[in-house]
Amino acid sequence: MSSFEAFLINIFMFSAFPIYATSLPHKLRSPSLYAYLSIILIVGGLAGAIYSFPIGEDTFISGGNIAYGSFMMTAVMLIISERSIATFKNLFRLLILVDIFVFVGFNYTAWLLDSDAITSPVELPSEIFKVSLSVMLIGGGLILSEILLLLIIFIQVRRYVTNLNALAGIYTIAFIAIVCLDGVFFPLVALHSHPELGNIILGNVTGKVILAVSYSLPLMMFCLIYRKQFAHFIETPLTIGELIRSPRKKLLDTLYQYEIRDRQLRQDKQELLTKAETDFLTGLFNRGKFNQTFELEWQECKASGQPITLVIGDVDYFKQFNDTYGHEKGDTCIRSIAQLWREILDSEAGLAARIGGEEFALLLPKCHPEEAKIALEEFLVRLDKAAILHSNSLISSHVTMSIGIASCIPTNDTNVKDLYVAADNCLYKAKNDGRNRIITE
Ligand code: GH3
Ligand code: MG
Ligand code: MG
Repeated sequence: MSSFEAFLINIFMFSAFPIYATSLPHKLRSPSLYAYLSIILIVGGLAGAIYSFPIGEDTFISGGNIAYGSFMMTAVMLIISERSIATFKNLFRLLILVDIFVFVGFNYTAWLLDSDAITSPVELPSEIFKVSLSVMLIGGGLILSEILLLLIIFIQVRRYVTNLNALAGIYTIAFIAIVCLDGVFFPLVALHSHPELGNIILGNVTGKVILAVSYSLPLMMFCLIYRKQFAHFIETPLTIGELIRSPRKKLLDTLYQYEIRDRQLRQDKQELLTKAETDFLTGLFNRGKFNQTFELEWQECKASGQPITLVIGDVDYFKQFNDTYGHEKGDTCIRSIAQLWREILDSEAGLAARIGGEEFALLLPKCHPEEAKIALEEFLVRLDKAAILHSNSLISSHVTMSIGIASCIPTNDTNVKDLYVAADNCLYKAKNDGRNRIITE
């Protein structure tokens, strides 16, 4: 068997498991791939010291390189299938943990093999297990930088290319390019003062090209066979910024989001409450709010011994107004009257409401009926000036209103209903007396 054929078999062995693992159900997939990556880091350390494939004249591909290629390919598959920036953080942790384990474990084994503390059935040279810290740091640092670079390329490219096959092709080319770059950078950083550096880089790059192209086939297969996972990855929003943001900042961001949502909810609640109390046509308070406030103000005036005044106004001959001008004009008329009704409160403190179709109420706590009467007279003058045409009114050419005013100091023997009936009776009397007038109790 030629070296190249043996090399290809090795590549196949190092690709088969990750390809299989990506097809596992989600719960098994990620742990399997992370476990495989850990194993590959340990095996890579050993394989690098044990064998190399002489591919060309000056080109050797070590067992360590084959493990490195498999690590990169599996990392890419993991990133695509997990669709999360956290994958990079996990790879970072995994690399540090396993490298510490390899560094301590391997050097300890090398020491054991050289010591008299153990016996071994085979003659193992301790060099196999001797690992240099600097090479390990450089290797680990490069792997992480390369994965990060790939991640950035993946995220950027998918913004512009949406065709899945084209993306699979571009991702594979990026993978090949980054693995080849490693062929330049690793010797450059690890062996920067070596006299044969140029030749070493050349041999290394050639090896990495062959390695990268070999692993690009299973990677391409993965993108094409597991199209669904690949398509999910393309659709998932990812930003590299998530890596830099500290947990504190993330927490603050989350709190801020909650605060915004809370504010929105409170605003929505307030709007709903306001809507529940407001008359949709005029914007005055509605009957529900009027009843509720009437009870509260009644109790307060009772406690303080102050008078409470109730005004009820009703538009005269409004049925005829509707019949003459139509319901829509009727609504406009009600809105205009409501505006004037609200303005009474510019001089009096209280609550203005529409309590029926063309019926309005004013609740004036701590207000004497005489003061109320003056304010309502002013209202009738303004209504007259508004001169809303009403050709079918039996008493005027314009819209008019009849008003009843009742007042009392609440006691234990009286209740809101009494005051309401009193004001309503005054209104009834105003209607009977010829309308367009105010009757006070
Ligand atoms: P009176 O002077 O005795 O109060 O006579 P009136 O015609 O005003 O009284 P009546 O209670 O017989 O009729 C009230 C009319 O008000 C009946 C209805 O067509 C009208 N109306 C009630 N609610 C609304 C409303 O929201 N919009 C409009 N356009 N008309 C309404
Ligand atoms: Mg009425
Ligand atoms: Mg009326």
